[in-house]
Amino acid sequence: MKRVLNFIDGEFRPPCSGRYIPDVDPATGQVIAEIAESGPADVDAAVAAASRAFESWRKTPAEERSRLLLRVAELIEENFDELARLESEDNGKPIALSRRMDVPRAVLNFRFFATAILHAETRAHMTDDRALNYTLRAPLGVAGLISPWNLPLYLLTWKIAPAVAAGNCCVAKPSELTPLTADRLAALTVEAGIPPGVINIVHGPGASAGRALTSHPKVPLISFTGGTKTGADVMACAGPLFKKVSLELGGKNPNIVFADADLEQAVATSIQSSFSNQGEICLCGSRLFVERAIYDEFLARFVDATKKLRIGDPQDSSTDVGALVSEPHLRKVEGYVELAKEEGGAILAGGNRPADLPQRVRGGYFLEPTVITGLDCARRVMQEEIFGPVVTVTPFDSPDEAIAYANGTRYGLSASVWTRDLQNAHRVAAALDSGTVWVNTWLLRDLRVPFGGMKESGVGREGGFDSLQFFTEAKNVCIKL
Ligand code: NDP
Repeated sequence: MKRVLNFIDGEFRPPCSGRYIPDVDPATGQVIAEIAESGPADVDAAVAAASRAFESWRKTPAEERSRLLLRVAELIEENFDELARLESEDNGKPIALSRRMDVPRAVLNFRFFATAILHAETRAHMTDDRALNYTLRAPLGVAGLISPWNLPLYLLTWKIAPAVAAGNCCVAKPSELTPLTADRLAALTVEAGIPPGVINIVHGPGASAGRALTSHPKVPLISFTGGTKTGADVMACAGPLFKKVSLELGGKNPNIVFADADLEQAVATSIQSSFSNQGEICLCGSRLFVERAIYDEFLARFVDATKKLRIGDPQDSSTDVGALVSEPHLRKVEGYVELAKEEGGAILAGGNRPADLPQRVRGGYFLEPTVITGLDCARRVMQEEIFGPVVTVTPFDSPDEAIAYANGTRYGLSASVWTRDLQNAHRVAAALDSGTVWVNTWLLRDLRVPFGGMKESGVGREGGFDSLQFFTEAKNVCIKL
């Protein structure tokens, strides 16, 4: 059985505990690997290795850092098929999706930040004829990077690439549920020639390995992506140590369809935004609001398209919807479907475990894409992040009502607005409490834009130069003239 070891100081090491936890393929329920069960001692060793490596990595010219990171991107491409398969096996996502989204984005993350550092500029301020101020930006040291299971390689590289490109060294802690592509990436960084200690990966449970990182006194910055509740714990650990913290947290994203929208496009994209990756994307639009004039027609088309989605073996390239990441997560999502019924909702599609799955995946954690109507916006199902293939559909009568519904949660990560009326689009976009607003699209990402959430969806912005700013510290130098 494959053993996933920690990657510290350029080598693979067993955990200090000597213990391992099982890694399950959620499509089959079978154990496919064992993962190092790490704790504070492993994190200590990784932080020490990263601190040592930092002394020379911070002085390595940007061009050389860029060359090495571009080589990592190339190696990800050379190992594309294997990484796509591992991601699908580990997470349960359709292989078509890991080929289309996860692995290409990992390549892009490295390319983007490897080249961005070649174009970085700093600022200068003349104080009349009295002084010249200029800003230096320097890496901070060891970055602690904690990523979730839904887009494992995509989000891990979204953190590693800017952290290391900016001259920091890092200790990354991927989710214990999906360690396989992180493990493969570690080997590729060796092949690329990244010096030992620059990138370290420690596996294991969040409560031990993750917490050891967020409370480690020699880790001055933490970039965390995960649930809002965990984010609060990260903040509580990091706060007293005055760490720089970036939190990308949960969402309960609204998807607002006005009567003048291109209906065909709105339905097709809403299917994607509701059910891609089994609804396990922080940016999924889990609350659909549809203007009453087209509500019935939209709903009929949407339910019909939902029922046509192919749910099945993630390794089959024609599968649209794969398995949820784990049995506890499946139960949690099913619990929300039951709650929706108790709260008075009607299930128009899905709601059950599929009956006729291929033999190979009958032990997996599958749930039919589920459409719920008839719920009041204050109900728990419409307030709490479900993070599964479950969407609610609600009619609205005016733009103001749609905005009030959309903003009526504690989250504020992303939103989609469907309308052909430009003024309406601008007005609604400006009024939404949301870090990102898409108009007539969803998940169209430009890596230069600021990315992050409002309210309980996060703190800070990453993406483009926002990431490079987060992973460096500004110093003002004032010279009297
Ligand atoms: P969790 O918050 O449970 O876990 C995220 C990461 O934190 C994992 O690596 C986890 O380790 C680790 N962790 C858990 N507890 C602690 C702790 N006390 N201290 C430090 N680290 C800890 O989230 P999920 O993995 O369940 O991911 C789903 C959540 O992520 C959803 O809420 C989703 O919305 C959000 N998300 C947000 C995104 C954004 O950009 N805003 C993007 C993608 C997801 P382990 O899993 O091993 O326990």
